[in-house]
Amino acid sequence: MIYLDYSATTPVGFEVLDTYNKTSKDFFGNPNSLHELGVKSKSLMNSATKQIAEILNINETEITYTSGATMANNMALIGLAMHNYKRGKHIIVSKLEHPSIYVICDYLESLGYEISYVNNDDEGLIDFEDLKKLIREDTILVSICAVNSELGIRQPLKMIRQIIKKENPNTVLHSDMTQAVGKVSISMHDVDLATFTAHKIYGPKGIGLLYKNNNIELTPILYGSGKTNMLNPGTPALPLIVAFSKALRLATTDIEKRERFIERLNLKIVDALKKYNGVMINKTKYSIPHILNISLRNIKAETFLHALEEFEIYVSSNTACSSATLSSSVMAVYDDKVRASSTLRISLSHLTTTDEINKFIMYFNEIYRKLSGLHN
Ligand code: PLP
Repeated sequence: MIYLDYSATTPVGFEVLDTYNKTSKDFFGNPNSLHELGVKSKSLMNSATKQIAEILNINETEITYTSGATMANNMALIGLAMHNYKRGKHIIVSKLEHPSIYVICDYLESLGYEISYVNNDDEGLIDFEDLKKLIREDTILVSICAVNSELGIRQPLKMIRQIIKKENPNTVLHSDMTQAVGKVSISMHDVDLATFTAHKIYGPKGIGLLYKNNNIELTPILYGSGKTNMLNPGTPALPLIVAFSKALRLATTDIEKRERFIERLNLKIVDALKKYNGVMINKTKYSIPHILNISLRNIKAETFLHALEEFEIYVSSNTACSSATLSSSVMAVYDDKVRASSTLRISLSHLTTTDEINKFIMYFNEIYRKLSGLHN
């Protein structure tokens, strides 16, 4: 098998799984229970949270565990909108967000909120002038992902934050950092709210977190019992939390070294694929090397994906989380329907080997010749 879909999800790390198993077995007490077993579990949970807080350089009280990035995005956007509806109903998002953000925005729009979509330039960078113009007195929130999931475009959040706060200090900046964490350096000082998920960083599925600066208030979208967190009541998923903290520690070690290696693999693929007339490389100077997007002329991406699958090679078309036929990210950057109608995403990891990439290139060539011959 050649797995090249690490941006859709990652295999859980061996040590992470071990942590999960040990915690499940030895710390099964409910952290909300008052007896010894509960206290032991609560104490382990506090240590895991402390470790996460140290890695992200934040306060432990700024962490809310969620089931993943989708839930964190919901809590952030809906919670912020609900809390501030008297102050304003205007929200700005980029055109390079994950589909989950757009679905939440559609919901908020149905409740009477107004959504503006900030432009980006032809390299995918947020158009700062457009952002400035869009920010109003009643703009309560701007949401811009740190790294786009389809083209890997990275946004300069520090600069974006400065622009926003200068125009309106009360406007909150949320960033979906799902595709950034473990790949590039991130800073919580650049944002007020941030979204994370464990399964993109070799952690287990079913756990993520929302970073919420202590100065920001959100209206809860979930209600229940359990004292550990006001935004996410109920029994904390201790084994998942401890495994997440382990995964985060492992993923944030050696980022630069891993990035250099992945960059070499990325360039190798680009070099091999750019010779095909029917392949367009969707890469700008802001794309991180872990995500490589290409468009196929005259070949359906899905057909190509399944042809690769025959050789046990796994990639994505559009995003695994979306059934949209046009890639909204490719449209946002290239404004070209042909280019956006058939895209493949090859996503790389430090676990990817040069041998896997050589094989991928070989099979790509074979399939390309066969399918383009069929269609020409
Ligand atoms: N946000 C981004 C940027 C993503 O890439 C994804 C998954 O692909 C999600 C959110 C959804 O993540 P989850 O599956 O943890 O809900």
